[in-house]
Amino acid sequence: MDQRIISFKYLTDFHCIADQCEDHCCGHWKIFYDPPSLQILKNKVGDAGLSEIVSFETIGDRTVVQLKLNKQQNCTMLDDNGLCSIHSLYGEEALANTCASFPRRINYGADVELTASLACPEIARKCLQNSDAVDFVFGDDLVNEKKLQVFDNRYDATTSDPYLSNNNDIRNLMYELLNLEGFSIAQKFFIVSSFASDVSKFYFRDSPNYSEQQLVESVNRITDFDYVKKLVEEFDELDVKPHTAIELVQLVLNARIVSGTEYYSVLNELIAEIAGLLKSDARTGNDNNDLFVNIYQEIKHQISLKHEQRIEQYFTNYARNAIISEWYVSDDNLMKYLQLMSVRIILLKFLLFCHPKLLKRYNEGLTLKGVTEDELDAIAVDVFYKFTRGIEHDKVFFQSIQKAVLNKPELLSLAFLTYLLKF
Ligand code: SF4
Repeated sequence: MDQRIISFKYLTDFHCIADQCEDHCCGHWKIFYDPPSLQILKNKVGDAGLSEIVSFETIGDRTVVQLKLNKQQNCTMLDDNGLCSIHSLYGEEALANTCASFPRRINYGADVELTASLACPEIARKCLQNSDAVDFVFGDDLVNEKKLQVFDNRYDATTSDPYLSNNNDIRNLMYELLNLEGFSIAQKFFIVSSFASDVSKFYFRDSPNYSEQQLVESVNRITDFDYVKKLVEEFDELDVKPHTAIELVQLVLNARIVSGTEYYSVLNELIAEIAGLLKSDARTGNDNNDLFVNIYQEIKHQISLKHEQRIEQYFTNYARNAIISEWYVSDDNLMKYLQLMSVRIILLKFLLFCHPKLLKRYNEGLTLKGVTEDELDAIAVDVFYKFTRGIEHDKVFFQSIQKAVLNKPELLSLAFLTYLLKF
């Protein structure tokens, strides 16, 4: 293999903690079996054994093979100790590639990139809780060939579209900007969004106006520290009400609940608990947006007094992980990509600060000053892993939100992103 394998520090010592995991990854979603792995499994268990483990469905001229789920929506091969019986009885080679690779995400570009999904709580822990977790590491021994079979993005090295061929450089620029010292995640995201806004007229997929010179000038501007400092001062001076953001949060979370519970129950249960606690706020008896905003802001303020740095680290690591693993070229332009990323961040912020463990204390009139870093870490893992499972893994859901709500020129602007970033 000519390409290097690059990864993040948090993955170097990751291993599945199986029965110690607060959840498992063997259910509540569709798990497909790839033909080579299916053949290995069939050789071990025979036709009759195979039909107990997987189902076959003909769609057009294709046969789709999926692991069967039981009434609880778990894989029938998940044993009572939370372990995989295919792995324990027949070895890793008989696992579907999807099972062997999860929670890893693979991109084939100039390098092979090995990142991971925070849908696994153990990955969320490792990614969020160490300041250097998303630093790059290099090495051919990071993953075996079987795990490299399932990939998320593949880069067409022969492309003549600069939007795609600059993927590595522009992505790495955003990754570095999100690591600037001395700035909050909101300020860093504003810097990245300002760059995206600056290049938006000529830098997009199949752009007829592409100008390399303009792109270089924009990159030079955004890497000039004095320019960046001025940008941030302007951002800090803007006084923005959080109501636009809270309305969007409510809209997306309600849509998530309404659009089905079968595969996304862990997140839906969390949303339902938060909704119940917000409505049960006995002190005012009303559930309007002002109340939500006040509660959110008060909890955020109290928690941030003691844990600001830790919270910045969660969101910085989350965003840097996403920038590398989810290529912006999957969207037509950078603003669209950052718009969705900003929406994800406000949803995560809301779920974090309005997590039931904090809301209950708040509703009982207890101070939040006593919340320890360990408690907050546990809340963050709970929120980030459930959110990733419940929303980020459902691309169709997010596309429908984008189409129905976000796909307006005025919402693809730096002004709108500023509204979100100030939340
Ligand atoms: S979610 Fe992660 S830690 Fe939990 S069982 Fe799956 S791979 Fe293992």
